[in-house]
Amino acid sequence: MAKWTHVVEMKFEIELVDGMRIGGAGGGLEIGGVDLTAIKDPLSGQPYVPGSSLKGKLRSTLEKEHGLSPNGKPCGCGKLSCHVCPVFGAHMNMRAECGPSRLTVRDAHFTKGYLKVWKQNPVFEVKAENIIDRNRGTAEHPRWQERVPAGAIFQAEMVLKVLEGDQDDRMVADLKNALAIVQRCDSLGAGGSRGSGRIAIRLRPPEKVALASLTL
Ligand SMILES: [Zn+2]
Repeated sequence: MAKWTHVVEMKFEIELVDGMRIGGAGGGLEIGGVDLTAIKDPLSGQPYVPGSSLKGKLRSTLEKEHGLSPNGKPCGCGKLSCHVCPVFGAHMNMRAECGPSRLTVRDAHFTKGYLKVWKQNPVFEVKAENIIDRNRGTAEHPRWQERVPAGAIFQAEMVLKVLEGDQDDRMVADLKNALAIVQRCDSLGAGGSRGSGRIAIRLRPPEKVALASLTL
């Protein structure tokens, strides 16, 4: 396998412009309970954005943009020149030319600043989503869903492992492009077409770190 030379760290804040729905376990059965709860850290009870959700969103965004999702499945071409496979991993392809996934996306927790705000008022927004009966024009079976409220800010971090021969500048450009598309034209979490999950992203300049330069 090619030598691992350096990483590129990409740190950014995600601010919720609209409430966000990233589902955890189903809600309880108690009367007045919600049907779909937000995903939370089990110890602190604070919501977070799972790295897997963010990574999946960026992957599917690039696949759609470059037409790399035949039959709706993730790209598994495994080519080093692919916009998706080297960064995210070649789907179901153990012998991919590009080798393993280069990208690690950490879980994004509240920023220190927003955590203070949250602790003063740690509440979720509960939104009803109705299924409209088209014949009668009435709403049926409302489902109660928890949303993380607009204004919440998460600290996100991605690490791109760069192997010798990788076009890391292009990989970083692709990731920036995907983040910009999600911010401008899409959303995070469920219910985006019904007004949930619009976000604003503040990206710090990505930083290249040589492995040889790291010490404790
Ligand atoms: Zn591919």
